[in-house]
Amino acid sequence: MKKIAILGSTGSIGTQTLDVARANADLQILGISAGQNVKKLEEQVREFAPKLAVMWSEEAARDLAVRIADTDTKVVSGMDGLLELASMEETQILVTAIVGMIGIRPTMEAIRAGKDIALANKETLVTAGHLIMPLAREHKVQILPVDSEHSAIFQALNGENKKEIKKLLITASGGPFRGKKKEELKNVTLEDTLKHPNWVMGRKITVDSATLVNKGLEVMEAKWLFGMELEQIQVVVQPQSVIHSMVEFKDGAVMAQLGTPDMRLPIQYALYYPERRYLDGERLDFAKLGSLTFEEPDMETFLGLPMALEASRTGGSMPTVFNAANEMAVAKFLRREIGFLDIYDVIGQSMDRHETRKHPNLDEILAAEQETYQWIESRW
Ligand code: NDP
Repeated sequence: MKKIAILGSTGSIGTQTLDVARANADLQILGISAGQNVKKLEEQVREFAPKLAVMWSEEAARDLAVRIADTDTKVVSGMDGLLELASMEETQILVTAIVGMIGIRPTMEAIRAGKDIALANKETLVTAGHLIMPLAREHKVQILPVDSEHSAIFQALNGENKKEIKKLLITASGGPFRGKKKEELKNVTLEDTLKHPNWVMGRKITVDSATLVNKGLEVMEAKWLFGMELEQIQVVVQPQSVIHSMVEFKDGAVMAQLGTPDMRLPIQYALYYPERRYLDGERLDFAKLGSLTFEEPDMETFLGLPMALEASRTGGSMPTVFNAANEMAVAKFLRREIGFLDIYDVIGQSMDRHETRKHPNLDEILAAEQETYQWIESRW
């Protein structure tokens, strides 16, 4: 029996993790958590009977406790609740499907408790990779990537010697605005932005795909996850999203992982690694596909990628500022308070004014996040 807990079980990755659990009788869900969605968490408690359910807000937790008073599930709240979930005695794996930097502390707690991490939460490695990776090594836990690109690289590296890697090739769909120039992006709407050509995901990450910030975050994450230099990571636009990413080795061989766009595959692979299990769903039909095309990313128009590379090169607290500024800018864009291109202005100006701390600890990372939020709130 594989026993897991999920940070963010009501979101896009969280619910697909539960789909995987539905199809695998030997996967037991011991803990689940959500921000505010009491109704969905109640449904999940009734279906999966976890030992622990966490709501971020105390009020929502009280509401949930009343609703599920007839069950044996314990309800807790806030950061203490997430930490309790992260270190539950019987779990082997923590799935970090929560959105935002709030996921870092519980992830570190789980690592200290010896849990393997099925990592979806991007912010964890982007902002605290220098703390997380050594901690994982110290406690001998595995960081198993859930993001499709990192999972593809992880799969392509199976049985290979990491020392023989020449570079990682991270593929990008290019998002809904691929081929457009800056002028044409001035008046794009929220609705246009949320139409991802290939993947169905949460709203924030869908906007990040359109700005190419998502690809930038993935490069930053890959650097930590696979111990690469930035120069060894190349982004290739592959609009059909069939190749999920590739690895080029010293001898020129390129290993790629291909598949239909279905996040359940990387989730299941992370949960059962190194075993592969049956997964229902569509299969690739190469004859129907016809052709796969490749392009360079347009770094002049989609500034999310070059800005991310700059933040990563600067290092220290700068990736946190990049990430926090983007989070706030996207939240404002989702509330229709700013336009699409303003997202780049918010990130750029936040980075320009920031004085980088070289080796920030967790408190300093979280302080840099708050400072960035406050500055943006006072400015926009
Ligand atoms: P969603 O917005 O769909 O879900 C986020 C989850 O986190 C929800 O369960 C939400 O609860 C919960 N949550 C939010 N705030 C809190 C909080 N303060 N305390 C407890 N729970 C909280 O996000 P996604 O599933 O799309 O993404 C999750 C992470 O995975 C992100 O970091 C994203 O970048 C990454 N990722 C996502 C991919 C995808 O395909 N979606 C692919 C690769 C990576 P509630 O429902 O109550 O708000």
